[in-house]
Amino acid sequence: PLILGIETSCDETAASVVGRDDAGAPVIHSNVVLSQVEEHAAFGGVVPEIAARAHVEALDGIVKAAMDEAGIGFDELSAVAATTGPGLVGGLIVGAMTGKAIAAARRLPFLAINHLEGHALTPRLTDRLAYPYLLLLVSGGHSQIVLVRGLGAYERWGTTIDDALGEAFDKTAKLLGLPNPGGPHVERRAAAGDPKRFALPRPMKGNPRLDFSFSGLKTALRMAAQAAAPLSPTDVDDLCAGFQAAAADSLADRVGRALTQFRDRFPDLADPVLAVAGGVAANRAIRTALEAQTARTGVRLVAPPLALCTDNAAMIAYAGLERFEAGMVDGLDAPVRSRWPLDGDSAPMIGFGR
Ligand code: ATP
Ligand code: MG
Ligand code: FE
Repeated sequence: PLILGIETSCDETAASVVGRDDAGAPVIHSNVVLSQVEEHAAFGGVVPEIAARAHVEALDGIVKAAMDEAGIGFDELSAVAATTGPGLVGGLIVGAMTGKAIAAARRLPFLAINHLEGHALTPRLTDRLAYPYLLLLVSGGHSQIVLVRGLGAYERWGTTIDDALGEAFDKTAKLLGLPNPGGPHVERRAAAGDPKRFALPRPMKGNPRLDFSFSGLKTALRMAAQAAAPLSPTDVDDLCAGFQAAAADSLADRVGRALTQFRDRFPDLADPVLAVAGGVAANRAIRTALEAQTARTGVRLVAPPLALCTDNAAMIAYAGLERFEAGMVDGLDAPVRSRWPLDGDSAPMIGFGR
């Protein structure tokens, strides 16, 4: 089968064609991603109206590029998959309408994909992981620990009660006058800094639940920065190092606890795996912390290539492929949902919402 995937939930306009080879292994025939980072740069964050407009302008060309790169015609597709939530509703509508229009015109099945399911299934696309496995999603919009039991069977074990980890990196960067998105800049400056100079909190450390919290850390960082102002380059380095160390420490505690529970729940798994997704997984200090926790608990750490960890349409096409093969197709009346927890049954939302 050949699935066209479309992703427009945030600030990437993306399309991809994914299928399988004769041995059943997933194949990415094309994977085109257009980032809107430039459009939003002046505003220090993603502006929903600008994002929706940019998706409208770019999507037709991106879909065509994905089809051309795959070297196939629309009549060769088996189905069309589009992200229908969660995300910014304007962008979701653009992607869903385009996907539905192609499906209607070509009389193909339409697959309404949860963006988080795309992230959750990526390690099956890249590493052919067997169910079940544990997933850590740490991106600009999400921080979650999810048990992936099977297709459509997800248990959210932990989530952030305030900011996402990538968001905390971005806000830290903004506060210290570094460019957006800030994660890579914070990491670079942290490399030169002293992580011990500023004593910052380790949010949730020791908490029996598996949730995250990063806004208290951000506030502590702001106060430390104010107390040290005016900031020299060394001060910025040290603040970045302190923040990164605290974030990695907090994450390690949460993930370590989850891994212990995972091992207890599935003591007989031949190959227990923690898979990571989301842009923050690129961070070396975070990686090192995860490596330590997985090694300690006898779990294998799987980190897909970064281009497939951040937002892309190959993961949407692949989630569509699994759903298509399982006969889980959707109607052309499938709604878009600004909020759509992976394991929840929140009311579907059509059109303009929260
Ligand atoms: P979502 O996927 O939740 O909709 P998103 O598009 O913002 O949100 P991603 O594209 O997966 O998420 O990742 C972007 C985030 O990852 C940003 O917050 C960015 O700062 C962060 N990030 C990228 N590289 C690094 C790094 N080296 N260290 C820390 N954070 C990083
Ligand atoms: Mg993004
Ligand atoms: Fe994402």
